[in-house]
Amino acid sequence: MRRSFPFFMLIAFLLPLLSGCGGSGVGVADVIYLDGSFYTMDEQQPRVEAVAIKNGRFVAVGSRAEVDRWRGPGTRTVDLEGAFVVPGLNDSHTHFDSAGRLLLGANLLAVSDAEGMREEIAAAAERMPEGSWITGGSWGAYESWSAGSTGEEKTEAGEKSELFRPTRELIDPVTPDHPVLVSRWDSSMYLANSLALQEAGITASTRAPVGITIHRDAEGEPTGLFAVSRGSIMSLFGDAVDPPSHEQRLAEARLALEEIRKAGITMIGDITPADMLRIFKELKDNGELTVRVRPRPPLTVAEGFRDIGITTTTGDPWLRFTGLKGYVDGIMGTHGAQFFEPYEDDPTNYGHDRPMMRPPGNMERLVRETAAAGMVPHIHAIGTRGVDILLDIYEEVLGDLELTDHRWRVIHAQVVRPEDRPRFGQLGLVAEINPYHLSDDMRWMEERIGDRARWAYAFRSLKDAGAVLVFGSDWPGTNAAWYHQHPRYLIHAAVNRTTLEDTPAGGWFPGEKITVHEALEAFTINGAWANFEEEAFGSIEVGKWGDLTVLDQDLLAIDPGRILETEVLYTIIEGRIIWQNPER
Ligand SMILES: [Zn+2]
Repeated sequence: MRRSFPFFMLIAFLLPLLSGCGGSGVGVADVIYLDGSFYTMDEQQPRVEAVAIKNGRFVAVGSRAEVDRWRGPGTRTVDLEGAFVVPGLNDSHTHFDSAGRLLLGANLLAVSDAEGMREEIAAAAERMPEGSWITGGSWGAYESWSAGSTGEEKTEAGEKSELFRPTRELIDPVTPDHPVLVSRWDSSMYLANSLALQEAGITASTRAPVGITIHRDAEGEPTGLFAVSRGSIMSLFGDAVDPPSHEQRLAEARLALEEIRKAGITMIGDITPADMLRIFKELKDNGELTVRVRPRPPLTVAEGFRDIGITTTTGDPWLRFTGLKGYVDGIMGTHGAQFFEPYEDDPTNYGHDRPMMRPPGNMERLVRETAAAGMVPHIHAIGTRGVDILLDIYEEVLGDLELTDHRWRVIHAQVVRPEDRPRFGQLGLVAEINPYHLSDDMRWMEERIGDRARWAYAFRSLKDAGAVLVFGSDWPGTNAAWYHQHPRYLIHAAVNRTTLEDTPAGGWFPGEKITVHEALEAFTINGAWANFEEEAFGSIEVGKWGDLTVLDQDLLAIDPGRILETEVLYTIIEGRIIWQNPER
């Protein structure tokens, strides 16, 4: 979690907007979508050819003749020309603010050479407000992996020196007005431009704090490159780095919204830092919010939520709370996920827990407070031990509370021991999974956890054990990986279990594949159910909100090998086209 923020003040001024919207009438639809192949996720009528929408909701779903009865003067008609249509897709796991920052600022994940660095920094400088700091970046995330390493340098200095080591001369010419302080993905190196050095007062005479090396040229002048083995680069730059301005944050948010529209996503379950709520509210007030947001602030706000009566039913269809986010362990990308056995490539490391786990009993206390506040715990657990610990806590608390319809959630559920799988069904849990992670992570998974890899991303087994699967992209990823948000990547990974190059042939642990239908469920109706919103979203049924994602090919009819070719044609919310593919 980030530094504390006057969160409840924000909530107080958010409350007035969290009210219903009304207005209805009968007979004449606002818009009719015709000649689609609507895959409704409604068992009563799985496929229909047309829908009518009035006041944002479906008023007719069925054959063209049935829907035509809603046509009247002023009804708009859109011919979908046979396109494949699913309920608006719900990406249950995004990091909206990080995505915006990477889209507006420097995204260096794939950069590991001089030309790439200069180009990307120059592009970021073009996009960013003048004078603003260009930070983050995470260069080289894919450099070590492509070299066949695990992504974490454990080699001697000699080998390390082969890594890309940029200097300020490289980026100074393209950043006359922006101070730059970007990092290597693992925070082991930082690059500053001359303006940043100047603003931080770093000169030839600056002494390096313990744990930090200031790289210098022959004259002793800083080259702009810093190596950090311990401590924080902020001990040198600290106050000089301005936080992003409000203007910058809005610009970031607008870019993130655009990407979400293009991906056909109509709802996100966002991991929302407290101060981001202000941005969401402002966008909503301006009529700029083009995705429904289910923000998930940290579990630690539970007590405050209870005090002011915020529950999962507080909000409106655009912005509404659903759960609170907690963390048990770290992530695989940094050897932080917790296991019963150590990492294969780091034999003394079992992973680590997160601050919410301390002191012992703290997480259980937070889960109880969350339940008492009428909210749902959504808790991150990745390694076998991390998942087991969380299941123990859920079992304990659920045993005491005797809730019948709790829909508690395990986020990621990445590597689950076979003996723990049935507990998902027994405890009635939602597994919020990230299928695309497997396409990216399988490259190093076996190197890190050996045989245990067969338990990783075990979607089939989890589902068969009774877990309710919901899909999240985890967009834009971590400091070590870019995770795509476009639904084709998630569906491809879940159904084919291969990389983007379609390896290995037949899929990675192919017994864990799920079907296209199951993947769509996890993207639509299951996500709505997990949010306690299955009456309003998740399927194309009369009475529900008219949110649709229109795709250029029928995912159930095509060869699964072609899923990655899928394009979004329209993104529709409440019957309104909020994005149309300009190339189609
Ligand atoms: Zn995440």
